[in-house]
Amino acid sequence: AKKGGRNDIAVYDAQLHERYLHRQKIEADLRKATAGREFFLVYQPIYCVKSGRVCGYEALLRWQSPARGIVSPADFIPVAEETGIIEEIGAWVIHKACKDSVSLPEDTTIAVNVSPVQFRSRSLVSVVSRALQESGLNPRRLEIEITEGVMIGDTGQALEVLRALKALGVRISLDDFGTGYSSFNYIRAFPFDKIKIDQSFVRDLGQRSECLAIIRAVSGMCSSLGIVSTAEGVETEQQFEILKTEHCDTMQGYLFGRPAALTELNAFETKTVPA
Ligand code: C2E
Ligand code: CA
Ligand code: CA
Ligand code: CA
Repeated sequence: AKKGGRNDIAVYDAQLHERYLHRQKIEADLRKATAGREFFLVYQPIYCVKSGRVCGYEALLRWQSPARGIVSPADFIPVAEETGIIEEIGAWVIHKACKDSVSLPEDTTIAVNVSPVQFRSRSLVSVVSRALQESGLNPRRLEIEITEGVMIGDTGQALEVLRALKALGVRISLDDFGTGYSSFNYIRAFPFDKIKIDQSFVRDLGQRSECLAIIRAVSGMCSSLGIVSTAEGVETEQQFEILKTEHCDTMQGYLFGRPAALTELNAFETKTVPA
């Protein structure tokens, strides 16, 4: 039933205005943060089923704001994208992760997230190339994680950027698979090295049979295509067992380790991971 009329509109306007002010404030703080080094990276281990060991790390961005405390990327990346600040932050992330990974075991990969906005900016390829050069990191160790959002719009240009990145020797992962505009067409057209099955499928694995069916299908498709499959958000032994049975190549989640500072990773210790 319709109620309120003009009053609802007034409430809606007020809410919109409040949201607008909130964004403005985040934007102002983000600009200060970019200038003032308030960002840092944490790393989460990636577990390889075949070797039974940690085979890589994903770099995850954190903002330590004097006013707000530690802010989650989900809360500031959208604003950084809308304002274009993401380009500068994203370049910093790539440089920092490449530098950091030099102090991690040589047989591990390092994954960085690249936002669709950053991806479309012309500078990405040169930023990656420079970061590799300056850090001396073997390009084979670097993985660029992109989401399906990258492929909306000018697919020709997206493909060109992906090819240029691959020509540098880096690997490309398709992140959050299954949540966006998943299309087999993308998988056919783009040179992905890895597909990361979104954590929502893993979370509901016990309760919903569709999730198991989808994971089985994606994992099977990956192995036929020679693409590495990863399951995200693995929290329980039960999920781990199922995913192993479904031949997921690698896994990531709290079961193997939470994101942690580089100095807290103990990356060179022999790992005992769930058996
Ligand atoms: P993502 O790339 O899908 O990263 C995985 C997220 O899942 C991380 O959240 C991680 O902490 C969380 N996670 C890992 N294991 C588990 C688990 O077992 N259970 C649950 N419930 N969660 C788990 P985080 O660090 O808050 O990052 C959120 C998102 O922000 C990322 O999702 C990514 O899309 C974005 N992001 C993070 N760092 C960057 C960055 O440097 N650049 C860009 N553009 N985006 C970033
Ligand atoms: Ca990711
Ligand atoms: Ca993901
Ligand atoms: Ca995500």
